[in-house]
Amino acid sequence: MKIERIETLVCHARMRNWVFVKVVTDQPGLFGWGEATLEWHTRSVVAAIEDLSMLLIGEDPRRIEHLWQMAWRQHFWHGSGIVRSTAIAGIDLALWDIAGKILGVPCHQLWGGAVRDFVRLYCHLGGGSLETFYETPVDQASRYADLARQAVDEGFTAFKAMAVPPTMPLEGLQPIRAAERCVAAMRDAVGENIDIMVDCHARPSPAMGMQFARALDGFGLYFLEEPCWPECLDGLAAIREAVATPVATGERLTHLTAFRDLFSAGACSVCQPDITHCGGITEARRIAALADAWRIPLAPHNPQGPVSTAASLEFGFSQPGYIICESVHSDVPWRHDIVDEGFVVDPATRTVRPGTRPGLGIEINEDEVRRHPFEPEIPQRVFYRDGSVGDW
Ligand SMILES: [Mg+2]
Repeated sequence: MKIERIETLVCHARMRNWVFVKVVTDQPGLFGWGEATLEWHTRSVVAAIEDLSMLLIGEDPRRIEHLWQMAWRQHFWHGSGIVRSTAIAGIDLALWDIAGKILGVPCHQLWGGAVRDFVRLYCHLGGGSLETFYETPVDQASRYADLARQAVDEGFTAFKAMAVPPTMPLEGLQPIRAAERCVAAMRDAVGENIDIMVDCHARPSPAMGMQFARALDGFGLYFLEEPCWPECLDGLAAIREAVATPVATGERLTHLTAFRDLFSAGACSVCQPDITHCGGITEARRIAALADAWRIPLAPHNPQGPVSTAASLEFGFSQPGYIICESVHSDVPWRHDIVDEGFVVDPATRTVRPGTRPGLGIEINEDEVRRHPFEPEIPQRVFYRDGSVGDW
């Protein structure tokens, strides 16, 4: 059995271009789907997949680990950079999809079978629409409360809000109080039985992140995400030490060694590898094993397209440390025209039970994908009030 070709299909989904990866074998009808979506780097990833193809075409698709080693290590440059790591991940997902299809079992069966009865989903406020999630001003606390109620009305028992504004490396009380009011409004709106997450998007400096973390600590957040740059391990560790709220991070890291450094620094309470960026499921399984050694739970980053979600769920059914699946359902209205998923979401509880379809259990409608060709992503450039560059 050989890999015959590796195709990429780009689907413009407004905020992102979903990059679907199709690994085609020489066996009639046998191919696998992966995803390598990387916002604002779409063409780079497509080209990186083309570059990697020369290593993989003609190889046996069943030797997933061997091919991963080749893709990450060969031709001198290691695969840790975000573009190549994402390209490797897209191919890796497709190879696991093929492996499941060959054996006629869902991927989680390949990885030891289901370790739980269902996976819980959480949503972004507004279901993942760009404007609602990213652009609701933090001085509109009542709007946050309305959106929180809407998420709960839609069946979610957990949701995430970006209730922390961009701030200069040091600012006074105003943004802290605004974040506090937003989180208080959401907690008042939904009560204590709903899990609220706040994503700081790595906007704050360690000093500001510390202040946000302390101000929000009394609201019982499920986790506080990226309270400062992922590069600031000491800052993350200091914040984690100072508050009871679990600190979540990891979505921008690639390769096991970065997670080793993160865990060793005591900088992470909830690990958020992105299966489509960290090096694929092959690498995510290693990261999960390492996280287990610290008893750090897993909540993979997953705001991308439908193959990423299917992969995160299959991974979640196989990983004891997996606690919750990030999901978006209102990013584009035609999401379900693109994909036929093998799993069913219970709309009353927003939980998913294991599916029975082989591999990742998804089919991509290529004709529908072609209706949404590549367009440049909408720029998201942040400048502070003095004109200096900020983080989105
Ligand atoms: Mg995040």
